[in-house]
Amino acid sequence: MTENKHTSAGVRARAEVDLAALRGNVRALRSRVGPGVALMGVVKSDGYGHGMLPTARAALDAGATWLGTATPHEALALRAAGIESRVMCWLWTPGDPWREGIEADLDMSVSAMWALREVTAAAREAGRPARIQLKADTGLGRNGCQPADWPELVAAALDAQAAGLVRVTGLWSHFACADEPGHPSITAQLDAFHEMVAYAEKEGVEPEVRHIANSAAMLTLPQASFDLVRAGIAMYGISPSPELGTSWDFGLRPAMTLSASVALVKRVPEGHGVSYGHHYVTSRETTLGLVPLGYADGIPRHASGRGPVLVGGVRRRVAGRVAMDQFVVDLGGDTPEPGATAILFGPGDRGEPTAEDWAEAADTIAYEIVTRIGSRVPRVYVNERPA
Ligand SMILES: *Cc1c(COP(=O)(O)O)cnc(C)c1O
Repeated sequence: MTENKHTSAGVRARAEVDLAALRGNVRALRSRVGPGVALMGVVKSDGYGHGMLPTARAALDAGATWLGTATPHEALALRAAGIESRVMCWLWTPGDPWREGIEADLDMSVSAMWALREVTAAAREAGRPARIQLKADTGLGRNGCQPADWPELVAAALDAQAAGLVRVTGLWSHFACADEPGHPSITAQLDAFHEMVAYAEKEGVEPEVRHIANSAAMLTLPQASFDLVRAGIAMYGISPSPELGTSWDFGLRPAMTLSASVALVKRVPEGHGVSYGHHYVTSRETTLGLVPLGYADGIPRHASGRGPVLVGGVRRRVAGRVAMDQFVVDLGGDTPEPGATAILFGPGDRGEPTAEDWAEAADTIAYEIVTRIGSRVPRVYVNERPA
């Protein structure tokens, strides 16, 4: 989907992904958590919009030993591409392909009895045990097994293990507020995780890995590393939250640069309305530049009138509404040639805005900015091979 065979791919717009930056981020995160802790590169949602397979390979090149996805289909796509590392996926729905997951050697998360029933049935059919990881809801209140239901799930998993249907490879959980250091839920969740792990181990579970840390936790909570950390947004070079610090503060470099070619430059008089609804009206005679990217490409309409863009070395803002396929910037009389580059965001060291700046302009988080870049924007990879 992200590949484009036309030779002009990337002329209109492109999301350049610097895989050397991604590898550097993985190395920086590994050195932060120390040598005894495995690193899982989280590549769900098409690698947070960066392209799943190239980012997965780059993460492994830089020393990640696990990959993580949300859906089983994403995990199976990694296997179909020949990736042999450990692969874990955690968002299962009744009827999902458990048997394919077993045959593909996935580590499959189980949060509830329905899932244990489906995975053991699939293991019977496959004639081999499933690798499962039991997920504890230590307070997030999303996926995972509540403490009150944990003894039943642990007992049933141990029965299935004794019957040769599963092997419990992991015990794990997920934080609600790791990006808010000092939030009381953090120590409460850590305490609950210690208790739920201790209970399962006392009952006889021997997990290979225990894990709870996402990017924010691995940057701020060394005591939450356990055996493995799950690196998502930080691997792509973006800070989990501007309140925690910038990418630079953590030695991370944003991997994606989103740019487009200016499609039209024209002079307009004072008082000219711009784009749907005329929410922007020129205050003097000026020039307008047309940027051929819109909300269909993932540019948030909510950033209308606000999103920052670098054109000809000058920071501009979206003038008026972001439309489905295009938006306009007021170039203040400048007349770049059509085809000049407009940079929406990048690492930030050439004066261009960052994904974080767009997140602020759209009242959202940088995760959403990069992840929503649409399939119509070709991903262009640079520094694909380690030097
Ligand atoms: C997405 C996800 C992660 C990665 O989170 P980041 O904040 O991007 O590091 C880790 N664990 C689970 C369960 C997730 O869904």
